[in-house]
Amino acid sequence: MTENLIDPRTKYQQSGFPQGDGEQPGLTDETVPRPDHGEDTYRGCEKLAGRRALVTGGDSGIGRAVAIAYAREGADVAINYLPEERADAESTAHLIEAAGRRAVLLPADLTDEDAATGVVRDAREELGGLDLLVLNAGYQKQRETDADFSTEEFDRVMRTNLYAAFWMSREALPHMAAGSSIIVTTSIQAFSPSPGLLDYAMTKAALVAFVQAMAEQQGESGIRVNGVAPGPIWTPLIPATGWPKKLPHFGQDTPLGRAGQPAELAGAYVYLASDDASYVSGAILPVTGGRHL
Ligand code: NAD
Ligand code: MG
Repeated sequence: MTENLIDPRTKYQQSGFPQGDGEQPGLTDETVPRPDHGEDTYRGCEKLAGRRALVTGGDSGIGRAVAIAYAREGADVAINYLPEERADAESTAHLIEAAGRRAVLLPADLTDEDAATGVVRDAREELGGLDLLVLNAGYQKQRETDADFSTEEFDRVMRTNLYAAFWMSREALPHMAAGSSIIVTTSIQAFSPSPGLLDYAMTKAALVAFVQAMAEQQGESGIRVNGVAPGPIWTPLIPATGWPKKLPHFGQDTPLGRAGQPAELAGAYVYLASDDASYVSGAILPVTGGRHL
């Protein structure tokens, strides 16, 4: 047997995730077991040297893994997050700086149009330009019945997941040069929607259309637009969703039989941002433990 082969089924914990309090936003310190963001494993090789990136939701989970990887690949990274997630954001900033890159912290609630466009402007000013825009912030909540599903909650999901992506790309694109790229975090929920995530799944499906239409529109400007569709990934969002019954078995219904970790997403975001993907635009890359889109 080849000694350095790693079995993807057993690379990480397979079962027994404890239930959370269902309170959003989830925080990393309250997420047990602690997610792996690649702190001890991700090794860069200058794939993004000198690039300037903005990652929304970059404080924790998938966004933190992307921020670490981008910094180790040579990019300066601005991260946006909700003000109450400051402790997580500061931890991510330390990891970016430990890679020898600049970290810029931009707290703001993206459900507000002026705040969302302000984040893009501030990132551009602080970093001296913007080459990579990772639209990764997201909000989801388990919906039990139509009756307890308020317009206010529906609005929060639409604004966070969908409007913010539109507002921020509209603000960013006119200033982005050929070779830049936008990467959107969509979800397997865009393709296999769960009734309990009805509103969330709607936004993630709309983001797929957004990626495809934007890629076609921006081709002539030399800007690539792609998406990543994660399956079940162990992040602070999951114990904050309100899934008491589902959590102990989280991710076991995938072909690989377990939940993914944020670190297992980083390579996809690096690839799509890098020149290795120079002929890739309008793609949705699945990172789902084997479930097809
Ligand atoms: P996470 O909680 O670590 O990240 C989500 C981030 O979204 C938060 O850290 C927060 O900073 C940000 N956010 C939420 N509401 C916001 C608001 N109003 N203003 C500004 N920022 C806001 O969880 P994660 O799982 O890493 O989520 C990242 C992305 O991945 C989300 O778009 C999520 O929908 C998507 N996703 C996650 C999974 C999964 O299983 N974890 C699966 C598919 C897709
Ligand atoms: Mg967070």
